[in-house]
Amino acid sequence: MSIWKNKWKILEGIWYNHVVFFFNKKHWAINLVKHRRAICQECPHFDKHGFSELVVLKGLPACGLCGCNINEKTACLSCHCSLKDEGKAPKWEATTEKQARVENQIQKYL
Ligand code: SF4
Repeated sequence: MSIWKNKWKILEGIWYNHVVFFFNKKHWAINLVKHRRAICQECPHFDKHGFSELVVLKGLPACGLCGCNINEKTACLSCHCSLKDEGKAPKWEATTEKQARVENQIQKYL
């Protein structure tokens, strides 16, 4: 079952969403996560009501391709857009803490 296979990714999303961002409202990754969510909300695969067959947590916004809860998936920094798993160009990529910190610093000067 893919939920078991992806357990560490799910835990990473939960960790950032409900622990890291809760205690640090100015965390560097918050803008990155907001940006990912905005992209997902415009995507034709976005399942706003979480009704599709793959969705585990029914009734919550999800990715229609993988069934993941959007709030947790986008907060998993090492996760990427599900289109990549389909062999297509992803709408957003995985990132590392170091990479995102550098990108955030660069964006401040643009
Ligand atoms: S993860 Fe990718 S495919 Fe899924 S809703 Fe977001 S942008 Fe669309």
